[in-house]
Amino acid sequence: MLDFLKRALGKTGSAIHEIAPKKKKTIEKDEWEEILLESDVGYDLVEKIIDGSPDRINRIQAFNSLISVFQYKAEWIFPENQKPFVDMIIGVNGAGKTTTIAKLAYRYKQEGKRVMLGAGDTFRAAAIEQLSRWAEKLDIPIVSTRQGHDPSAVVFDTIQSAISKQMDRVIIDTAGRLHTQTNLAEELKKMVRVADKAMSGAPHRKLLVLDGTQGSSTVEQAKSFDDIAGIDGVIITKLDGTAKGGAILTIADTLKMPIYFVGVGEKCEDLAEFKANDYVNAILDEVFL
Ligand code: GDP
Ligand code: MG
Repeated sequence: MLDFLKRALGKTGSAIHEIAPKKKKTIEKDEWEEILLESDVGYDLVEKIIDGSPDRINRIQAFNSLISVFQYKAEWIFPENQKPFVDMIIGVNGAGKTTTIAKLAYRYKQEGKRVMLGAGDTFRAAAIEQLSRWAEKLDIPIVSTRQGHDPSAVVFDTIQSAISKQMDRVIIDTAGRLHTQTNLAEELKKMVRVADKAMSGAPHRKLLVLDGTQGSSTVEQAKSFDDIAGIDGVIITKLDGTAKGGAILTIADTLKMPIYFVGVGEKCEDLAEFKANDYVNAILDEVFL
């Protein structure tokens, strides 16, 4: 995982090297501040970290200050008798929801679980096609409808079908929406309500997909989605394509929610479980000897 993450954080590493070309045993506080800011750790959090730091910082001190940000343990658990377990995937357009669904479905399948997908993004025809292509490629059943149809109906049908076919897991796609679009916010709430009607307690987990290339700016967006739908955890995509790897710290610090996975590429295998220790070490390896 550490190597995997290091590769994904390559661009962030390069950005750090521009500021601190040589790895050292200790660094000055100012340099540490600059490194954090350059990696897109949010300003407020950088100040918080720096305030408590001595004038020169060693690796252990740096580690302790960064790891303390991750207070929320990401336990990716499935209650034994919860069948099917329903995940709903939420986030803005282009964040990587549909791709992440394929990655999760692939993972579930590898674990020997029976998975069904629900094409709840009925807003764009391309979105339905995209998820259907993944379903075909992964040989996983999918419930979908025509573009423009009620996404809540898809939610209901998918869960009902999964119950009758004794599926272990259901993953439901949703339309990318801006958190500021009131009607779409209402639609999302309805999808959650209808899921509960199809099966009491569903969706069992609402996962917010955030585009890692957007860095710390996704935090406000995430808060709004949490207000609308109540988010249980986060997946951060496109870590491979950004120098803003430090934003994960801001996201963890602000949202106080578990980060379950990071997306590190476009293929269905490109999903890495997020481990805070490994992440912090991958960053510190770029700075310290
Ligand atoms: P959606 O609109 O939220 O469903 O986003 P999509 O799943 O359609 O993804 C938008 C684009 O981002 C696609 O071109 C994906 O291939 C790409 N993408 C998604 N996740 C990742 C990732 O982890 N790394 C990279 N490099 N690209 C990704
Ligand atoms: Mg999509």
